[in-house]
Formats: sequence, structure tokens, C-alpha cells
Amino acid sequence: MSDADATADVSDVQVPQTGSNRAGRLATRSRNPKWQHVPLRIDMSICINCDTCIRHCPPQFGAIFNHGIDVVIIPELCSGCGKCLDPCPVDCIYDDPSWSPAPDLWWTEPATDDPYT
Ligand code: SF4
Ligand code: SF4
Repeated sequence: MSDADATADVSDVQVPQTGSNRAGRLATRSRNPKWQHVPLRIDMSICINCDTCIRHCPPQFGAIFNHGIDVVIIPELCSGCGKCLDPCPVDCIYDDPSWSPAPDLWWTEPATDDPYT
């Protein structure tokens, strides 16, 4: 057996397909059902695209992304922890109790240009 054959299976690590960790939320596009708070949303008519909130979103949630000229919160990744609220200089982040699933295009950034990894 060659060295390549002997190590072929090492990278075949299985990630749990649930919303209980970020990898699972990315894979299943689902929120953690245990989260008590609603996700937040950004009012883009007020947002000045300063990116401060992106830097304050804890990496275990990693919910805020640049998407084109917009800054968006993917609700399936947002725990509602509120750590992005105070840093926002224009107070344009709000609770979103009637949130809708993120559009397919919003998942492009975590898949290809994830600032939290
Ligand atoms: S509420 Fe928490 S998880 Fe949601 S976007 Fe803000 S910092 Fe990130
Ligand atoms: S901190 Fe506020 S103004 Fe800055 S990008 Fe985030 S939502 Fe927009």
C-alpha cells in the first residue's frame, strides 16, 4: 500500500447536520431551535455600510455579511444575542420577529468568502 492509500480516509470527518453548531446551521440553513431570541435585521435605508457590526458578531454565530453593496444578517445564523446593537453608529439593527428564510443568494458569502473562519 502506498503512503497516499494509507492516509486517504483521514480527511473524511463528518459534521453533525443540525442547527446546534455553526457548521450544521450552514449545512442545513436552519436556526438552532433552542435559541430564545428572534433574529435581527438591518434597515438598509439607514445603514452606512461601515461594517462595524460584522466585527462584533461572535464567530460562533457569524451571521453578518457584505452582500454586494448591502450588509445583511442571515437570520438562520443569528442567535439574537444583540452584540451588534451598541456598536452600530446609526442604530439601524432591529428585532425581526416575522423573519423570512434568507434568499439563496445570501448564502453565497458564507460559502465562498466567510469572514468568521
Ligand atoms: S444579534 Fe448576535 S448573532 Fe445576531 S447578528 Fe447581532 S451579533 Fe450576530
Ligand atoms: S454597524 Fe450599523 S451602519 Fe455599520 S454596517 Fe452594521 S448595520 Fe450598517
